[in-house]
Amino acid sequence: MLIYWNHKFDYRVLLSLATLFLAAISAPVHGEDLNIHQVAENVWMVQGVPEELSEENRGDISNSSFIATGNGVVVIDTGATAAYGRRFREAISEYTDEPVRWVINTHHHPDHTFGNSAFSDVPIMALSETRNLLMKNGDFFLKTVHERVGISSEDTVVILPSVTVEGGVKSFSGYPLKLIRFSGHSGNDLVVYDPLTKILFAGDMLFWNRAPTTPHSPGIDIWLEEIDRLAELNPAVIIPGHGPLAHDSGPIEQTRAWLVWLDSLMREGVAAGRSANALIDSDIPELLSDIPMAKFELTRSISHFYRKYEDSWWENANR
Ligand SMILES: [Zn+2]
Repeated sequence: MLIYWNHKFDYRVLLSLATLFLAAISAPVHGEDLNIHQVAENVWMVQGVPEELSEENRGDISNSSFIATGNGVVVIDTGATAAYGRRFREAISEYTDEPVRWVINTHHHPDHTFGNSAFSDVPIMALSETRNLLMKNGDFFLKTVHERVGISSEDTVVILPSVTVEGGVKSFSGYPLKLIRFSGHSGNDLVVYDPLTKILFAGDMLFWNRAPTTPHSPGIDIWLEEIDRLAELNPAVIIPGHGPLAHDSGPIEQTRAWLVWLDSLMREGVAAGRSANALIDSDIPELLSDIPMAKFELTRSISHFYRKYEDSWWENANR
């Protein structure tokens, strides 16, 4: 019998078998307590739990990724503690023989940068403003992480990014990555797009199945406009800053829906004279209410944004 040899099909089958195999053999080794997913032949993500920092989760709440470029590994975000950084680096060495040569911090938040000390021997790249914000807020963040995570964070220190970068296509020893500058989530967000695998490493510009955090956002309108620009990249895979990876636009749609709802809740609520507490008690729409941390983030967002919406309502009313 003649067997039609479909190269592409076989490659995919082999890749998925390899993934299963890797998942099976990765269990007993150092990465056992990390939730590692192979995203492409040379790309992996470590998925955090959709929770706030706590002793129970040891601070493992955000996503980190790594790319084996053929000439060294690029690490994207380093987790919330030194211990996580070490576990992450050990896990990387179980998946590839290539040395870690570069680290990128997508933004200054501690759950994405406090594992930096495990990578202090390699260049740690970030936007210059990200470095400045971490320098300014690092001690306060560190106190918070110690308080919430406890013993698992005990030797965590603030290690600032050592190399500042701008947006644009950057070659990592021949492997191109597009670095794109945004601001919607933290004021300074660096998104990484891999044109070879069409994977988008969105940092906290996108959340999926974990409610978005907004305390350092310069404005929901800005964030929403930037999400439209992210959508134009048309990625094959999205790795959000928190939550599972997606092979469709799920994180884009959900982050957008959450922010659109939050924005209209506050605009309409302020116009109707409703108090911040009344808005915090609002019903969350059905499609968004099941998202982990929804109530928590609604409360947090209203608490810090309400005054801003009130001010802009008064400004408009007095024109
Ligand atoms: Zn963040």
